[in-house]
Amino acid sequence: MPDYQQHLQLAADFLRNADHVVAFTGAGISAESGIPTFRDDDGFWQRYPPEHFATWDGLFATLTRDPDGLIDFLLAVLEPIVEAAPNPAHVALAQLERHVNVTIITQNVDALHQEAGSTVVKEIHGTLFETVTLTGSFEHLVTRQEVRKVIEELKEIRGQSFVRTRLPLVIRPLLGIGRRGPYRPNLVLFGDGLNDTTWEAALAAVRDASVMLTVGTSGEVMPAATLPREARAAGARLVTIDPEVDSGEGDICLQGRAGDVLPQLVNTAFP
Ligand code: NAD
Repeated sequence: MPDYQQHLQLAADFLRNADHVVAFTGAGISAESGIPTFRDDDGFWQRYPPEHFATWDGLFATLTRDPDGLIDFLLAVLEPIVEAAPNPAHVALAQLERHVNVTIITQNVDALHQEAGSTVVKEIHGTLFETVTLTGSFEHLVTRQEVRKVIEELKEIRGQSFVRTRLPLVIRPLLGIGRRGPYRPNLVLFGDGLNDTTWEAALAAVRDASVMLTVGTSGEVMPAATLPREARAAGARLVTIDPEVDSGEGDICLQGRAGDVLPQLVNTAFP
């Protein structure tokens, strides 16, 4: 693969000469940790139609109308995330911090970048491991252990006659009413606005970047998908890493799995 090797060398040169690298990551970077991407996973949105499962109104309506359907959805989303560990792609990005200033901007809600050791992570679509009030103020942290317990209890009540009454109690670590009113997971669902502070911080990082690595994102979710263009307009070099993409909108495309390509790239740049 002469092209791949040449592109890898060129991308490594970009990294070596960079003052600030932004890694913009999507569901694909966590695929090798066992978390399915929604678009690659056969028919996820066919099984769980977005109008019932991808908006807060839809989810609340589903809770009353079809509690077992909601439980199936919650298990499909929560279980892979809570059992996942960082893969070599997350680790390579964390190790890159030893050599250059790095900001991670992620669309993922799985906290795997922080677990791998990355210290500057902007979660523009929120995180599963924190709840917020309905006005978006921080409510409380949620541990992996708490989510595991929710999963166990969801499995116990699924299909039982008392499911409707028990479900709200079981999901209370994630969704409920606290001292400051109702709270919910800090997740950006379809139609939700982004957190302004996080988005502004992400934009500032992108405008300051010398290199942007875009990893494992289909670029279909707005406004996140505008970030590579912002980076390019501000003069950054763009490198796209994705097995399905052979010509990103950037300077270089390294076609392959993030868990293979990112360690190679970081080791080539900083042997
Ligand atoms: P997407 O599902 O639209 O696209 C995934 C991309 O990853 C595709 O281009 C695919 O080719 C690529 N990919 C698949 N395997 C890969 C690998 N091993 N290495 C590198 N790339 C790989 O993802 P998106 O653009 O992030 O949009 C999905 C939305 O759903 C996002 O908003 C995200 O927040 C959310 N989501 C998050 C998670 C998570 O937190 N891990 C998982 C699923 C979806």
